[in-house]
Order: sequence, then C-alpha cells, then structure tokens
Amino acid sequence: MEVGIKVTVQDVLTNVEKIVSVAYATYVAKPVGAGKIELEPVKLLSTEDQVEHSLAIERRRIRLGYEQVFQNLMQESNNEDTFEEEDAVSTELTHVQSTELVQPPHANHHGNTFGGQIMAWMETVASISASRLCRSYPVLKSVNMFKFWGPSVVGDRLVFNAIVNNTFQNSVEVGVRVEAYNCEEWIKNQARHINSAFLIFNALNDNGELLTLPRIKPTTQDGMRRYRGAIARRRIRLTRKCILSAKVDEPSDLWEQSNQAYISYSNIAALTHLAAKPGWEITSTLDDIKIWTHEEGDMLSLKVEMQVKIPSHLAFSLLSDFTLRLQWDKHFLTCKVLQAVNEDEKIYYVTSPPMTGHKPRDFVILVSKRKTCEPSEPYIVAVKSVTITSVPPSSEYCRSEILCAGFQIYSHSDNSCTVCYFNQVTSGVMPYFAANLTGSSESIEDTALECIKFLEVNNSKLKLKTDF
Ligand code: ADP
Repeated sequence: MEVGIKVTVQDVLTNVEKIVSVAYATYVAKPVGAGKIELEPVKLLSTEDQVEHSLAIERRRIRLGYEQVFQNLMQESNNEDTFEEEDAVSTELTHVQSTELVQPPHANHHGNTFGGQIMAWMETVASISASRLCRSYPVLKSVNMFKFWGPSVVGDRLVFNAIVNNTFQNSVEVGVRVEAYNCEEWIKNQARHINSAFLIFNALNDNGELLTLPRIKPTTQDGMRRYRGAIARRRIRLTRKCILSAKVDEPSDLWEQSNQAYISYSNIAALTHLAAKPGWEITSTLDDIKIWTHEEGDMLSLKVEMQVKIPSHLAFSLLSDFTLRLQWDKHFLTCKVLQAVNEDEKIYYVTSPPMTGHKPRDFVILVSKRKTCEPSEPYIVAVKSVTITSVPPSSEYCRSEILCAGFQIYSHSDNSCTVCYFNQVTSGVMPYFAANLTGSSESIEDTALECIKFLEVNNSKLKLKTDF
C-alpha cells in the first residue's frame, strides 16, 4: 500500500501555512504463513481521495520503472568520457562509519527496528559525511528512495557506511548503506544488507546563501560507478521536477527515454485533475449529450458527456485506438502511430483541417490509456502533445498543441456507459468552440453524435459476430 505524508508548518503570527516535506511510503504486509496477503481496498470518500487513488497507481508505475530508467542512463554514461578534475577533493575524505545497537525502544512490538529510527541514524551519518566537504552545517534537501531491503531486530548491530558520491555546484549527494549483524553473524563477519538511501544536502553560509561545493574525485572503481550513478539519479530527479511542476500551458515536453514515465504520469494526472475540478457548468443538454464548461483564469475547458449503449471496456478499446478516430471525428484527417512505447502508451502523428483558412494543422500526441481497477472508477484515455526530435514542424502544416484532453469512461451496466470527453481549450481552437457555445454552431454536438454512432455500430457488429 502507498501512504502519502505531507508535513506543514503554520506561522503562528501570520497563520500562513508552508509545506515542510512531502513523501510517499510503500508498505507491504508480511504474511504469517506462506502466500501473499490480499489487502482490503480503501474506501474513497471525497473527490480528492479519488484523484490521489488514481495517481497512486501512476506513482507505482514510475517506481517500478525507475530501475530500468536508471540502468539505461548508466549504460549511456558508460560511453561518455571520464572526468579529469585538477583540484577535486578525494571522496575518501568523506567516508563515515558508525555502528548502532538496536535496543527495545528502537523497535516495535514484534522486535523489528522502526524504519524511522533507521532513517534518523542514516541522516546523521550522511550529514556528517556531507559536512566534511561543506565545512558548514549541511541542510537536507531531498531523499532519493529510502529502500528497506530486509528487517533488523533488537540485539542486531547496524553498521552505517556513508560517503559522498558526487557534488553539483550547490548540492551534494551522500549515499548510505546499512548492514545488520546478529551476534553470530558479527563474529563470522556475515552482513545482511538492510537499507540504502541517497540524500541530497545543501550548505548555507551565515547569510543563508548557498555555498559552492568543491568538485570531488572518486578513487576506486566503485566510487567511479557511484559518481556516475549520482549523475543519473540527479537527471531523473530534475526531469521529474521539471515535468511535474510544469504549467499546462507551457510548450510540450521532449519525449526521451529518461522522462517517459513522468510525461505519462503528468498526462494522466492533468486529465484526472481537470475532471475532478469543482465548478463545471452545464451549457447545453440533448437527450444523450450534455456539454459542460469550466472557466479558471484565462483557461477554458470543455466536457462532453455522452450516454452510450456499449459495454465500457469496449468503448475504452475503441476510443483509445486513435487510428479509429478518423471514422467519427472530422477534425482528424490522418492519424498514424509513430511509436508504440508499450501496451498503454502510444505516440501518434495527426493531421487536421485548417481552423480559419490557414494551413492544415498537425499534432504529435501521447495517448496514455488506463484500465480501471474497480468498477466505480473510470477507464482513462489521456492525451497531450509531446515533442519528438525526429518529427519536427514542417512548412506545410501549422504545428498545434493539445494541452490536456481525453476520455473518462464510466460503466453503468453490462451494455451501457457514460463517455466523458475533456479538452482544455487552446487559443487556436477557441473561435471554433466559441461559435458552438454561443449557439451559432452545433459542431460539438454533431461530433458527439458521430462518436456515439461509431461506438454503437461497432458494438452491434461485434455482437453479431459473437451471436454467430
Ligand atoms: P551503490 O553502491 O550501487 O550505490 P549500495 O546500496 O551498495 O549501492 O550503497 C549505497 C550507497 O552507500 C553508496 O552509493 C555509497 O554512497 C554508500 N556506501 C556503500 N558502501 C560504502 C562503504 N563501504 N563505505 C562508504 N560508503 C558506502
């Protein structure tokens, strides 16, 4: 299970709240006998719960893919030149070792050492290691994956080894490895690897300004590997930060191997957040089609809700294949798959008719699809523009961007569902929507009717096939 933790501090004079720290902890339930434990699903009470619940699945995907992304980056950096630094400090100077004996107050009622206690010990050794380089008190900035590889119990000796892996201008990465020994293992020198973590520190001067840290020079082969490892982890961390904090109206992200997981995450997250926003207003209602709008600052979003007689899983598979969209959406002239990244992520190249007599438009979009885990949750097909170096804008087409769009599909019964189409309107398509919303055009309704027809006709065709 994933547990999210947010620590805030409130200024007692101004009442202003500030976030101190955010973390996600993953727990596994330990079976008493053989076999895995099935956890009870959590009850989702609010919209916020629902959003977080969907995003937890996305975070899990990122966590599970992390090792592969890291290994790929390490592989890439293998081919890069090794460094030559003249006045770099040897990493050996930052090596710190400490030993702790696990006593009853450090452990829970099973006798297992508290994870938080181990984390506190790790932070202490890591900050001593960092201070050897900073020559001032280091400030912990972030932690890159505290991993718990195995348990330790009361009576164990825990040996903490920390060393600086690399420095980056104003920050330093310290790695800590924890090994446990019981009495017998201690004598035989048989270690159990129980934890590793990478902690990032800053150093400040008396005026609170960031200090520039000296470059470091690894002296062993392992040190060299960790030096490159720290660069790879930093790249992943910065990419994540950049993508997850980007505003939706910023230009589309460059699709690279190291950031794919985060772009997919932000694709799903943007649609999930948009759908869950309060303040959607209904602007038009037909029998099976409702159109909603949402205004926030200078951003206008659109939701088209359609009642369709088709099982939700089938609607999902028909709507998530964008090459089929030519059959119902006249805004799609051509559509081809550029990259089938995996089962759930595909990149398409789409061309569209011109908006207002200009050049035809083209798009490079990432389509991320997600099946539901529970019947109350929707199927998701999220869409956003990405940049791919191999498909640059051409003079023939006007390259256009989709900020956030897609479908949520809710199941009703075995043979009916609600399909919600979302689109965060960009200035380019604004005139088109404006005409519709002021009643002078009904093209949104027309497209929605085509969509319903497409789904229901395909459903009958499939039914016919299975009846035979
Ligand atoms: P890796 O070596 O791949 O980084 P480990 O889990 O072995 O992974 O170690 C985590 C970190 O702990 C290392 O990056 C390093 O910073 C630190 N570390 C490991 N072993 C030692 C050691 N013998 N002395 C000092 N620091 C160590």
